[in-house]
Amino acid sequence: MTAPEIQQTLDAIVDKVRAYHPDPDVAVLYKAFNLAKDMHADQRRRSGDLYLSHPLAVTSIIADLKLDVPSLCAGILHDIVEDTVVSVADIERDFGTEIAFIVDGVTKLSKYAFNTREERQAESFRKMLIAMSADLRVILVKLADRLHNMRTLGHMPVDKQRYIAKETLDIYAPLANRLGISWIKSELEDESFRYLYPDDYTALSEKVDKKKGERDKFITETIALLAEAVREKDIPCEVSGRSKHFYSIWRKMRNNNIEFDQVYDALAFRIITDTTGRCYEVLGLVHSLWKPVPGRFKDYVAMPKPNGYQSLHTSVLGPYQERVEIQIRTRQMHSIAEYGVAAHWQYKEGRAVSPDADKFAWLRQLVEWQQELPDSQEFMETVTQDLFGEEVYALTPRGDVKTMRKGATPVDFAYAIHTEVGHHCIGARINGAMVPLKTKLRTGDIIEILTSPNGRPSKDWLDFAVTSRARTKIRQHVRAAERDRARQIGRAALDKALRRHSLKIKKVERNGQLRQAIEGSKVPSIEELYVQLGFGRVQTDTIVKRLVPNAEPKEEEDDEGTLAKFINRFTQRKERPGIALDGVDDILVRYAKCCRPVPGEEIVGFVTRGRGLSIHSAQCNKYKNLEQERMVDVYWRADKEARLPVLIRVMCADQSGMLASISQAFSARGVNIAEAHARTNKDGGATLTFQVLVSDAAQLKDALNSIKELKGLYSVERVRA
Ligand code: MN
Repeated sequence: MTAPEIQQTLDAIVDKVRAYHPDPDVAVLYKAFNLAKDMHADQRRRSGDLYLSHPLAVTSIIADLKLDVPSLCAGILHDIVEDTVVSVADIERDFGTEIAFIVDGVTKLSKYAFNTREERQAESFRKMLIAMSADLRVILVKLADRLHNMRTLGHMPVDKQRYIAKETLDIYAPLANRLGISWIKSELEDESFRYLYPDDYTALSEKVDKKKGERDKFITETIALLAEAVREKDIPCEVSGRSKHFYSIWRKMRNNNIEFDQVYDALAFRIITDTTGRCYEVLGLVHSLWKPVPGRFKDYVAMPKPNGYQSLHTSVLGPYQERVEIQIRTRQMHSIAEYGVAAHWQYKEGRAVSPDADKFAWLRQLVEWQQELPDSQEFMETVTQDLFGEEVYALTPRGDVKTMRKGATPVDFAYAIHTEVGHHCIGARINGAMVPLKTKLRTGDIIEILTSPNGRPSKDWLDFAVTSRARTKIRQHVRAAERDRARQIGRAALDKALRRHSLKIKKVERNGQLRQAIEGSKVPSIEELYVQLGFGRVQTDTIVKRLVPNAEPKEEEDDEGTLAKFINRFTQRKERPGIALDGVDDILVRYAKCCRPVPGEEIVGFVTRGRGLSIHSAQCNKYKNLEQERMVDVYWRADKEARLPVLIRVMCADQSGMLASISQAFSARGVNIAEAHARTNKDGGATLTFQVLVSDAAQLKDALNSIKELKGLYSVERVRA
């Protein structure tokens, strides 16, 4: 681009702006241009063009978006801080805070890396969201910048091409989509496709070219038929038709594993009319003209997408029984569809934030959540899903629409209504029928959430809740509840240990001894100490030793029978059995000796005074006599690796080979024997005691049944001491 060409480009931009803007401040545009011209001076792009050609092309795209003058100026100046000696402060002095803010934002954005290690990527994402929520024009200018870079990507080395194309496809195209700017999204996708999958791109474009004549004829005919039918009813309309863009055709081919010829509705037609009522009228006409394809009608007029998009979508079997997609919308809806969020700055001068910021409440929410989610991995996961996932729209019984990402469940819906509704949700009806909480919602479903004051979030919900709002709230609640339980258990455990040294916990709490004991340690408070004790991260012994430096621990009273002692040899192992209980992570858990529950059995947890959380079988008689307020809900977690010790007593004839047969029966059912004891009785029989490791109740039952079949066997029973 030569200097006169550059001047021409600038004049063309100004003309473009005048076409949509009644009274643009052209002086400030020229001022920005002159600064950029002086500063970028002789800098050149890889293509050999004067560097200045790039910011001008970006500004021209911003004018295509019909944005305000500050955005246009920011476009001209967007690379000036990065590439020249001009500072943000200089721009602020000469052009004001608004333009300086946008330029600063774009400069920072270009430093963020989205293709690097996840940690850094998440951090970049955070910063981008913050910049976006402060002023969406930052991201609009950035999108224009990226679009021009993609258009001129051919001059870059191949590895850079791939890197930039991937980042564009992963981040910027979905972002353009979420912001509702469909033409930028499509172009970014097609350009990325070209560089990421060059062979597929070439093959597809050849196929499309070959059929171009045929297709153009079909498009012209269809447009004429549609326009005629609509105008016959005196409805004003504008009909257009086009091929869907390459990337969307290619994605369809790849996802459905089909050839280009098999891609139906690769053609899309659009009818633009004047009022919402007419949209439905036109829809009726289209459906009477051509047979609609069932299940393809979507009413985004009654239920707009969160980015503001409105349109009626339907697929019909067109003139040659070919499947075509038809979109029907008003002119205003069309403008939102094309310009999305950018529509909010069109013609509007001097505003730092969009007047319709409420429409972009999701953006503010994302920023809120990023403050609540300290873990960047977690944050990245939830944000990308919320930002880029597909959506479902479901209704409350009163008709309020809630938008959630695809795969959302009644739990997500409950949290979308209100945190408290989510926390106390105990069930749901979809379209009047009771459903499990993990049911996936479909667009148009009417959801009634049942709540109870006693309802509490369950950790299991994290297995199916998908929205970041629900997941964040559930995690927070579960963490707080676990912490609280750990605190209770930790305090009780320490209390019990201290009693052996004739110390009372209340006393050491009150007289400051406990505080002294943790002074200088990593534990900041007594409360935190209890939590750490409860999670087993700090040992009670450590604390006891500090409180009672010289005392020998008293022996625990031996109130247990011989059999119980035998069992204890197994249960008092230092390592915890490989089993987790849902709702209680990582806290001191022991399995009650009275009933020795195994996975698959219904169980309850009991917060003991001093021995952590003990797990009882729901069948256990002992637990029923315990204080009910110390009960907590626990469940077995599905974990194939998990095994629990069970004691089995077998009475049989004292004959050789018995031990071997029984062992075989156990191992044939996948039950491992940890230990076996044999004793001969006076009557000539034998008692064999096995310590076995089982993964669930069904497996155990199966094994015991097969042992019962053995010859010479008198009885086999599970021992619950
Ligand atoms: Mn640039």
